[in-house]
Amino acid sequence: MPTRSGYQQRRPARRPGGRGRPTDASRTAAPAPVAAPAAPQMVVLPSHLTVRELSELLATPTVEVIKVLLKNGVFANVNQTVDYETAAVVAVDLGFETEEAPRVLVGPETATPKRFKEEDGAHMRHRPPVVTIMGHVDHGKTSLLDKIRSTNVTEREAGGITQHIGAYQVQTDGHRITFLDTPGHEAFTAMRARGAHVTDIAIIVVAADDGIMPQTVEAINHAKAAAVPIIVAINKIDRPDSNQDRVKRQLSENNVLIEEWGGDTVCVAVSAKTGDGIPDLLEHILLVAEVEDLKANPARRAEGMVIEAQLDPQRGPVSTLLVQTGTLRLADIVIAGSTYGRVRAMYDEHGHQVKRAEPATPVKVLGLSGMPQPGDLFSVMTDERLARTTVEDRQRNAQREIHQVKAVTLEDLFERIQSGQVKELNVVLKTDVQGSIDPIRSSLLQLGDENLRVKVLHAAPGGITESDVMLALASNGIVLGFSTRVEPGARRLADVEGAEIRNYDVIYHLIEDVEKALKGLLEPTFVEVVEGHAEVRQLFKIGRKVIVAGCGVTDGKISRSSVIRVFRNKKQIAEDKIANLKRFKDEVRDVATGFECGITLENFMDIQEGDMMEAYRKERVVVD
Ligand code: GDP
Repeated sequence: MPTRSGYQQRRPARRPGGRGRPTDASRTAAPAPVAAPAAPQMVVLPSHLTVRELSELLATPTVEVIKVLLKNGVFANVNQTVDYETAAVVAVDLGFETEEAPRVLVGPETATPKRFKEEDGAHMRHRPPVVTIMGHVDHGKTSLLDKIRSTNVTEREAGGITQHIGAYQVQTDGHRITFLDTPGHEAFTAMRARGAHVTDIAIIVVAADDGIMPQTVEAINHAKAAAVPIIVAINKIDRPDSNQDRVKRQLSENNVLIEEWGGDTVCVAVSAKTGDGIPDLLEHILLVAEVEDLKANPARRAEGMVIEAQLDPQRGPVSTLLVQTGTLRLADIVIAGSTYGRVRAMYDEHGHQVKRAEPATPVKVLGLSGMPQPGDLFSVMTDERLARTTVEDRQRNAQREIHQVKAVTLEDLFERIQSGQVKELNVVLKTDVQGSIDPIRSSLLQLGDENLRVKVLHAAPGGITESDVMLALASNGIVLGFSTRVEPGARRLADVEGAEIRNYDVIYHLIEDVEKALKGLLEPTFVEVVEGHAEVRQLFKIGRKVIVAGCGVTDGKISRSSVIRVFRNKKQIAEDKIANLKRFKDEVRDVATGFECGITLENFMDIQEGDMMEAYRKERVVVD
């Protein structure tokens, strides 16, 4: 059955004389009897639904729906899925007007960082910046967040009980700044990989007594990959062994040139312990925000991002939403990820009830029917029914569409270059030792031409971590390793998300593969993995042609998806796919050593007792 791609409003014309349905028909779960003639009823249909769901939406017995489908040449049972056009034809035939629920973009559109495109210049207003704090462990990220928060609450706010809701706002010089409460570049990049672009400014905290450490470099590179402006906060300046100059020098070694040294990165000395320098830091955040000219339109319906969600035993799902544009109000219908609901109550981070939340404001929201995921986008909708069908549609399509968001691989790189999807190859490079980085990086940078270059987002010695994979995913890039290990978490994440990790032992091979990929010459490499052997013990004939080989598995296993090589007297006489693998009467997926089974090959029937079958599968080589 044809399916649709992309959202287009197609509204099949209403057939004159069609039968109408009562208004609440589309909400009725059980099929209802045919109603008396009435005005045509509008029904909102998702892009895909089963015949049963369609009959429920139309409040028409399934058999009627199937009949109309048949009349239009579509054979489908109640559990089969039909697309919007097909469903609309049925609905129109039964006297409805139809409209397609807006398609939810969980596909490639959300895979790229999303900044809201504001449509109406006249309504644009300055909004507070949203700030994330990153840096090496123990350099004082949490202490800094706590200190800023405790020293900048206004009188009214001080009355409330401070709660951690995932983000908070402080006031300074009459301006607000929003801080995200989860420090660290992992959370930052994980959100970005999910398509959420929320941070306007990244504060990189460096402890003055410790200097730049591996995670500081990671944080810097993650912020740079997201093109988010950086402010460096040199922390712990109260400590006797603090050395600010060393930090500044190390920053320049990592391509962060501070203003004092002729660069453009703001650097502020602070102490999260004493509070020294914090007013200066806040002032600089406002200055950077001013340069960035951050604006949003409070006059529109709210959109934004889910920061966190919890299940409260008394109050049900409680989510913190960060409004990115528009104004969120009590009683608004919100759709967030694959859940929706009406805003029953909103609280700020001091536990005060609020009635509205403007751009860059985080609020705790009660009323969603489920728990959205952090990083999910939310938006306000005008119609509850539309919100429901959209969510149902989203749930149905989530799996399918997420798989359309394919990460870049070296093998499909050229195709993407050709189609204009990729203009530079983003690389995260991990090596055995520091000394390997420079030769590899400089060789990589020499590859390509003016249209396509390699960009090294992050290069560091050490194992390939989840954070590296996340950075590659968020930036549409790949992870290249040289003589290093892949941590299990990283491998799992890469497998699930389809990100590419390639690990090499020879620098030349790494460079050569990237070069070939840029030129479209890289062929996927497969290896054969022998899975097991089976001995043919008896033959059965089915009909005139088909031979079933009754076999005993002598080692390993035989899988339904294996390819079979047939050997006779140790010589290969055929290679074929399995058409049928059975244990007794049942079709099975695999058969283990010591068991008997019946194997039917797709084409080769000239099998004899005593032949040997070797089962193997082809596996793509992932070098690591
Ligand atoms: P995080 O891992 O980056 O979040 O670091 P924490 O905020 O947990 O801080 C790590 C340690 O450094 C804690 O023991 C803090 O008390 C201490 N610390 C943080 N900031 C300062 C500071 O400005 N001065 C001093 N002396 N200690 C600090």
